[in-house]
Amino acid sequence: MPATDGEIYDLVVVGSGPGGYVAAIRAAQLGGKVAIVEKQYIGGTCLNVGCIPSKALLHVAEEYHKFAGLRTLGIMADQPSFDMPTAIEYKARVVKRLTGGVAQLLKANGVTIINGRGQVDEPGVVTVDEPGGTRRIVRAQHIILAMGSVTIRPPFPGLDGHHVIFSTEALELPAVPRSVVCIGGGVIAVEFACLFNALGAKVTIVEMLPSMLAYEEPEIVKELEKVFKKRGIDIHLNTRVERIEDAANGEKVVIATGPGPSGGSDGQEVRLAGEYVLCAVGRVANPDGISGLIDRGLAMDRAKVVVDDRMATNLPGVYAIGDLSGKTQLAHVAMTEGEVAAENIMGHDAHMRYDSFPRPVYTFPEIASVGMTEAQAKAMDPGAHAGTFPWAANGKALASDSAEGLVKVVLGSYGDILGAAIIGPEATNLITEYVLAMSSELTATEIINTIHPHPTFSEALREAVLAAEKRAVHIYQRQR
Ligand code: FAD
Ligand code: NAD
Repeated sequence: MPATDGEIYDLVVVGSGPGGYVAAIRAAQLGGKVAIVEKQYIGGTCLNVGCIPSKALLHVAEEYHKFAGLRTLGIMADQPSFDMPTAIEYKARVVKRLTGGVAQLLKANGVTIINGRGQVDEPGVVTVDEPGGTRRIVRAQHIILAMGSVTIRPPFPGLDGHHVIFSTEALELPAVPRSVVCIGGGVIAVEFACLFNALGAKVTIVEMLPSMLAYEEPEIVKELEKVFKKRGIDIHLNTRVERIEDAANGEKVVIATGPGPSGGSDGQEVRLAGEYVLCAVGRVANPDGISGLIDRGLAMDRAKVVVDDRMATNLPGVYAIGDLSGKTQLAHVAMTEGEVAAENIMGHDAHMRYDSFPRPVYTFPEIASVGMTEAQAKAMDPGAHAGTFPWAANGKALASDSAEGLVKVVLGSYGDILGAAIIGPEATNLITEYVLAMSSELTATEIINTIHPHPTFSEALREAVLAAEKRAVHIYQRQR
């Protein structure tokens, strides 16, 4: 293959997802000569087939869902109809606008965009196979690996069949499915379950663990379960999917082992039918193009690249960020890691902290959390104590007809904030107050001393802290 050689950069970033593009922009802001290599689409998973398109369709589904409740507000709208192709076009426009915007930002910051698959066999050299068949050798003092993650395809039989889809295909369906069986009760499954249910599909969730969103505060997940069940979503917990078959009527049948006497998924066979099966059992780091570096001793933890808190690997001048280093799989964490790596490369001293990043879930009602659950906090600090505040006691939530759910905050012995979780209106925006408090090491006192505007959802965050201190005003708490 013919190759061009001779370009030299301070930094080459491989992968242009939220980790990669933010790192490239930050290094360029600090005066670096930067290139970014992308084999498929600017913006990565998040902007093209992840966060943004799923939130565009969830927005559509939520707007549609609202019609059902309008009558109680005195708004007599006829039953609306829904057109999936128009919604998909809307989603495509949102994605195009955002990815186009990111490409423009990269260019405006002087970042060279190189289309093609990057391969890194040794520190300092990136070989790019361009779409036209040419090979381009790019040299750099520093390289950031930001190749993200890919969908896990579990090995059970029947997965490649017709109407068995993953999250990417779920964003492109021609019409609303009559019914969907979601394998997994993680973030992707619950968001799509909420979306398809709101559009009129019969939805079933099959999760092998005792809970959906197993790492979240149980009280909050129970609320979501209650809301989902009320809306007609079938939830099978402790139920492990083994295979998928075709029924005579053309439907898919998911075959699983249900809850047994031990409480685990070791009981009777469970058969669940649907027009579609959505498989969402996780994502795995994507070490594409770095087998040469791995041969040279790049430290790996299975598919993940091992990094320190400056995002540096064990090889000189090589950094890794985002889903590839995989401390979590969240776009905003990838972005922060990109900034940290870029700043270290440009001569600053930046470090990542993982004790206070927010975990948003875009169901309606939304969920958002940060830090520890109550049980985790009590295991660490026996003096830890929690406060909860229901949306039903918040004036703005009542006025907005969104009084389902609660806010929970966990305080340590000294009033330090160890964790928080919200299910309810604007949860993914509101959580930032607790995130800021935790990352700035503020305590209950600073939140209590902060005057929150009335009437707002934000008052519930202060009330939950008051509740933890047994002095909530808008719910009754026995004082002795
Ligand atoms: P990615 O976004 O995966 O980008 C990696 C890029 O590298 C890709 O563009 C890929 O083409 C490119 N690449 C790979 N190998 C090479 C190579 N050899 N050469 C050149 N280029 C290469 N997170 C949230 O925080 N909030 C959400 O609401 C959210 N929703 C999601 C919804 C769905 C359906 C999915 C699937 C994910 C969602 N996520 C969400 C997770 C989020 O998308 C990821 O955490 C995030 O994209 C990780 O960013 P990244 O930069 O590490 O990698
Ligand atoms: P996940 O790891 O969150 O959930 C997968 C679930 O599948 C787990 O609960 C697991 O127990 C279950 N499971 C696995 N095998 C099973 C089987 N055979 N039968 C039944 N259940 C089984 O993964 P995901 O939902 O695919 O999401 C992937 C990543 O994408 C997440 O880590 C998340 O960080 C990210 N994401 C984030 C957001 C957000 O921030 N709002 C949205 C979507 C995705």
